[in-house]
Amino acid sequence: MSTEQTILQRCDSKCELCASEQNLTVYHLPPDSEDSADKSVLLCATCDSQIANPETMDSHHWHCLSDSMWNPEPAVQVLAWRVLQCLANESWAQDLLDMLYLEPELQSWAEAASLSTNKEDETEPTLDNNGTRLTAGDTVTLIKDLDVKGAGFTAKRGTVVKNIVLTDNPKHIEGRVNGVRIVLVADYLKKIN
Ligand SMILES: [Zn+2]
Repeated sequence: MSTEQTILQRCDSKCELCASEQNLTVYHLPPDSEDSADKSVLLCATCDSQIANPETMDSHHWHCLSDSMWNPEPAVQVLAWRVLQCLANESWAQDLLDMLYLEPELQSWAEAASLSTNKEDETEPTLDNNGTRLTAGDTVTLIKDLDVKGAGFTAKRGTVVKNIVLTDNPKHIEGRVNGVRIVLVADYLKKIN
């Protein structure tokens, strides 16, 4: 069975966010562009175009999420979370977000991409080499040897850095290596869970 057929069957040929039956298309959740039903959601043209252009979002349309965010399908939950994030300045959307508990695995999937790409007021996330979002207090490991300028040592690949601190620059974090607090390039790190 094709991805599309699997999805059509699972949602009874209705938009998985608003239940419309008009102009349905399969939406693959970024950052995965995989053609897999687990990572895709069936959307109507309205949902699809508003998700593609979050700045045109009509918040009235999205009250449908109060139902669809309880969908058992993880991809639907993740997409609902992302849409609600875009609307989080509306109190009803914030209330729904508070109720929408995602398992940690789904939470990191939800955070791995955002619908809005050009929001000025949103600080850019700090991402490790896998594209996993880093937050203060995380533990990371180096994925390559790094010369620590000024400190006179090489931080070896595999070195574990605990309790990192974010900096103003999303490409850098700070952490202690050999007792020295240094700036590390986020792209050379991998988060350890
Ligand atoms: Zn829809």
